[in-house]
Amino acid sequence: MTEFSSMQAVKTKEEVIEVRGARVHNLKNISFHLPLNKLTVVTGVSGSGKSSLAFDTIYAEGQRRYVESLSAYARQFLERMNKPDVDEIIGIAPAIAIRQKNQTRNPRSTVATQTEIYDYLRLLYARVGQTFCHVCGREVKKDAPESAADEILSILENGTRFYVLFPAQHTEDVQSPKSKAQSPIPHLMSLMQNGFTRLFRDGEMIDLQKPEDYPFADFENTFILVDRLKADTEIRQRLVDSLEICFRENGSAVILTAGENPQTLNFSERFICKYDGTIYEEPEPRLFSFNSPFGACPTCQGFGNTIGINYDLVVPNPLLSLKKNTVAPFSRPQYAWAKKELMRFAEDMGIPTDVPFADLEGWQKQAIFEGKGKWRGVSGFFKWLETKKYKLHVRVFLSKFRGYALCPDCRGGRLRQAARDVKIDGKSLPEVVAFSIKDATKFFDKLKLSEEREQIADKLLLEIRRRIKFLFDVGLDYLTLDRLASTLSGGEAQRIQLATNLGSSLVGALYVLDEPSIGLHPRDNARLIKILENLRDIGNTVLVVEHDEDMMRSADYILDIGIYAGELGGNLVYAGDYKNLLKDRDSLTAKYLRGESEIKVPNKRREIGKRRLEIVGAREHNLKNITLEIPLDMLVCVTGVSGSGKSTLIHDVIYAGLKKQRGEWQAHVGLFKEIKGADLIDDVILVDQSPIGRTPRSNPVTYIKAYDAIREVFSNTNAAKSKGFSPSHFSFNVPGGRCETCQGSGTVTVEMQFLADVELTCEDCRGTRFKDEILDVRYKGKNIAEVLQLTIREAILFFKDVNKLVNKLKVLDEVGLGYLRLGQSATTLSGGEAQRVKLAAHLAQKTKSKTLFIFDEPTTGLHFEDINKLLAAFRALIDSGGSLLVIEHNLDVIKTADYVIDLGPEGGIGGGEVVATGTPEEITENQESFTGRYLKQVLKV
Ligand code: ADP
Ligand code: ADP
Ligand code: ZN
Ligand code: ZN
Repeated sequence: MTEFSSMQAVKTKEEVIEVRGARVHNLKNISFHLPLNKLTVVTGVSGSGKSSLAFDTIYAEGQRRYVESLSAYARQFLERMNKPDVDEIIGIAPAIAIRQKNQTRNPRSTVATQTEIYDYLRLLYARVGQTFCHVCGREVKKDAPESAADEILSILENGTRFYVLFPAQHTEDVQSPKSKAQSPIPHLMSLMQNGFTRLFRDGEMIDLQKPEDYPFADFENTFILVDRLKADTEIRQRLVDSLEICFRENGSAVILTAGENPQTLNFSERFICKYDGTIYEEPEPRLFSFNSPFGACPTCQGFGNTIGINYDLVVPNPLLSLKKNTVAPFSRPQYAWAKKELMRFAEDMGIPTDVPFADLEGWQKQAIFEGKGKWRGVSGFFKWLETKKYKLHVRVFLSKFRGYALCPDCRGGRLRQAARDVKIDGKSLPEVVAFSIKDATKFFDKLKLSEEREQIADKLLLEIRRRIKFLFDVGLDYLTLDRLASTLSGGEAQRIQLATNLGSSLVGALYVLDEPSIGLHPRDNARLIKILENLRDIGNTVLVVEHDEDMMRSADYILDIGIYAGELGGNLVYAGDYKNLLKDRDSLTAKYLRGESEIKVPNKRREIGKRRLEIVGAREHNLKNITLEIPLDMLVCVTGVSGSGKSTLIHDVIYAGLKKQRGEWQAHVGLFKEIKGADLIDDVILVDQSPIGRTPRSNPVTYIKAYDAIREVFSNTNAAKSKGFSPSHFSFNVPGGRCETCQGSGTVTVEMQFLADVELTCEDCRGTRFKDEILDVRYKGKNIAEVLQLTIREAILFFKDVNKLVNKLKVLDEVGLGYLRLGQSATTLSGGEAQRVKLAAHLAQKTKSKTLFIFDEPTTGLHFEDINKLLAAFRALIDSGGSLLVIEHNLDVIKTADYVIDLGPEGGIGGGEVVATGTPEEITENQESFTGRYLKQVLKV
C-alpha cells in the first residue's frame, strides 16, 4: 500500500500531515495530505465519508498518538483502542475534536465554568473583591497597626485627645455563656502581671491596685487602657507601638476620643465587621466555588435549588389574575381568608388584581410571595401550614406544591452568604454571572478599579475579557454566564467548546470540527469564519467538516469526498484550493458552486388557505407575549438569529403545547395563552436527528417495517418449508433462528475499565447474526445474512418481484439513502441519516393524514445535493396531507418556503418578537429583518 507518490511526500514533508491508504468505513483506500497550520474544509454529500475521514481516521489517530505520549499506565490500554484502518499517518499533531453533541452531564456545570471564566472570576473576587457587611452595609476590612495608625490620624482632627484601648475579653469569650459565671479575678491578675492596671468601662476609668478593686462581676463593655495620646503626625510611631500591643493582646484595638461626644473607632486584625461583630471569611478562591463545601450555600449544597414549595405549582397559570385565583392554594374554600388578606394587601400596595400575574412587576411578585408589612406572604402561609402537618389532609395538600424550588437562602446564587457579601464595583459574583455575555462585556469594559487593585487584577481581567469576547464572537452574546450547560443546544455547546479552546491559546494542535455553522444565522457566519482563521493564525491546523459556501471560500484547502454516498462514495474527488475546485468537472460540489446545479426557487408558492394554527400570547423565555399564525398544508420556515426564540416557540410552546392538549406530554410546557386550530391536525410529530434505535439490532429496514416482508420471503422458500422454519426464525429480535451468543446483534460488547466499551464481532456467528442452519436457506442464491449486506438500491433490484417490499425500499432511496446497507445498525447512522430514515417511515405509510411535522435544522450534515432530496421529500409529505414547520438557517431552504416567520431582531432580551411574516419575497422587503437582507441576495430580487 505504499505506492503513494513518494515525490509529493518528500517535497511536502515538513508542512503537511500525510494520510496513506485510509479505508475506514466506506473510504476507498485513499491517500492525501492536509497542509499544516491551514484551514481545511472537508465537503461532500451526506454519507460520502467526511466524518469517517475527519473524525474516525485523522482525529482517532491523533488521539491515539496523544495517549501514546502519556504514561505507561495509560498506554497499556492503547493496544485495545481500535486502530483506524489506515496504512500510515505522518506528521499528525495532538488532536482536539469539537463536536455538536452536548455531552454535559454535570448538573452544576454552566457556561462560565465550562469556559473557565468562572475560575478567573473566583481568583478575581478573591484578590480584589471587597466584603460588605450584610448587617450594616459597611465594608469589612482587616487592620494592621500601621494602616490603623494612618487611618486614625487621618480621621481625628489635630490636637484631639484619645485613648488607645483593647477589649478586656476576646469576642468569642464574650459570646460564650460559660465566661459569665467565672470570676474575673484570675483574668485581672494576669492583666496586671503584664502591666495593665487601668480599665475603662462606660466612660469611667478604673485604676487597679489589686484585682479585687474591680467592682464588676463581668467584663462587658470593659476595655484595657494602653495609651493616651494627642492626634499629631509626630506621635505616629508611638501610636503604632501602642496599637501593636492591642493587637498582640486582643487582636483588636479601640480608639476612644476624650471630652464631650466621645467618638469610637474600631480596628481588628480579624476579618469581622467592627461595628456589629459579624464574622466573615477572608476571600480566597475556594470561597467562591459552589463545588466546594467551603464555598457552597449550605442550604442547597451549591445547586441553587432545594426541595421546597415550588412556585410553578403554586401559580400554575400565571396568565390568571390575583382575582381569578392565580395563587392556586387560595382557591380552596377553607383558605378563602388567605385570598381575602392577599387582596386587601394588594389594594393597599397598589398591586393590580385584574391583570395576569405574569404581567406584574418583579417587586410586586416578590411582595406577594415573601410578604411585606402585615402580609406574611404566600411563603408565610406555607410556613403556617407546616405547623399543622399533624393533620393528614394538610400533609396531602402540602405535597401538591412540593418540588424543586429556588433555594430560599442563596436565591440561586449557589454560594454561601460570606461569599455573596464580596463585591466588585457593587456586584457580587452571583450577580455578575447572571449577566448575559453582552452585559458582562459592558460591565468589564467599564470596570474601574483603584490603581493598587488594578495592578493585582490586571492579568485576570485580561483573561476574563478575552474569554467573554470569544463567546461574543461565536455568536452567543445572548446567553447568561450562569446558564446551565445541560440546557444548551448542540450547536451552542459546540461553539462554547470552540470559545473555550480559543481561550486556552493552545498552539500546534489539530482541531477537527463538525459543521460549526449549525444553529448560526448567516449574519453571524462571518464572525465564525474569522474565529477559525484566528485559530489557524496562532499556529494550529484546522479541519472543518462543512457545507457552507462562505466557509469553503475562506478555506486554504478543500477536500471533496464522494462522488456519492456509502459504497458510491469514499473517494477523494478533489483536493486543492477553492479557485481550482470551481474548475473541477467531477465534483458535485463544484457543479453547485458554479450554478450548473442549483436548488431552485419554486415558480409558485402555495396559497395560504383557511386552515391555520393560531398561537396566542406566547411568552416563555424571551418571547414577548407574541401572537402569530401558522398556515397549514405548506412549508413554513421559522427563522431568526441564534437566541431569538425559535426553539422556545417551536419546541416549548407549539410542540409541547399541542402534545399536552392531546394528553401525550407530562414535562414542562412553555407559557402561552392559547393555541387555536389544534383540531385541524390529526397528529404532531417531531422529526429530529436523534438515533432511530439504540441497539445494533435496529436498522433502517426494521424501522420502516420492511423487514417483515423479507422474513416472509425466506420462510416461503422450499428449504425453509421443509425444515419448518417460520418467519420468526429469520428474525434477530427473538430466539429461534438467531445466534444466541450475540442475541442476533452480530457483535459482543467488551467493557473496558478506563475507555469506552469496545464492540467485537461475535465469534460464534462471525457477525452473520444467525445459526448455520438458517444460513443454509437461500433465496435467489443469497442467504439472509448476505441479503442484509445488500445496499437498499441493490435490494430494490434483487427483490423486484416483491412489490410490498420494493415500495417501501424505494422510499428510502427517494430520500437519498439508497446507499445504506439493509442491516446497517442504527447506532452507526449519522444524525442526518437517522432523520431521513424517520422521514421515509412517514412517507412509506402512504396514509393521507393531516399531520403537522416539525423539523429543527433538518439540513444539518446535508450537502446541496442532499438538500434537493430533502426538499423533494418535504413536497411528498405535503402532497400526502402533511403540514411542515421547520426551524432553519439555510437560505436555500428558506427561499423555497411558502411562508416565513422571522423572529428577532436580536438574540436573548433583544429578541423574542415576530419581526416579519410572509412569503420569502415579502420578508426581503422588511428593513428590520436580518433574514430578509440575506434572502435578498439568494432570491436576487
Ligand atoms: P458523512 O460524514 O460524509 O456524512 P460518514 O463518514 O458518516 O459520512 O459515513 C460514510 C459511510 O460509512 C456511510 O455509508 C455510513 O453509513 C457508513 N458508516 C458510518 N459509520 C459507520 C460505522 N460505524 N459502521 C459502518 N458503517 C458506517
Ligand atoms: P433560538 O432557538 O432562536 O436560538 P432559543 O429559543 O434557544 O433561541 O432561546 C431564546 C432565549 O431563551 C435565549 O435568550 C436563550 O438563552 C433563552 N433560553 C432558551 N432555553 C433556555 C433554558 N432552558 N433556560 C433559560 N433560558 C433559556
Ligand atoms: Zn442555596
Ligand atoms: Zn453471534
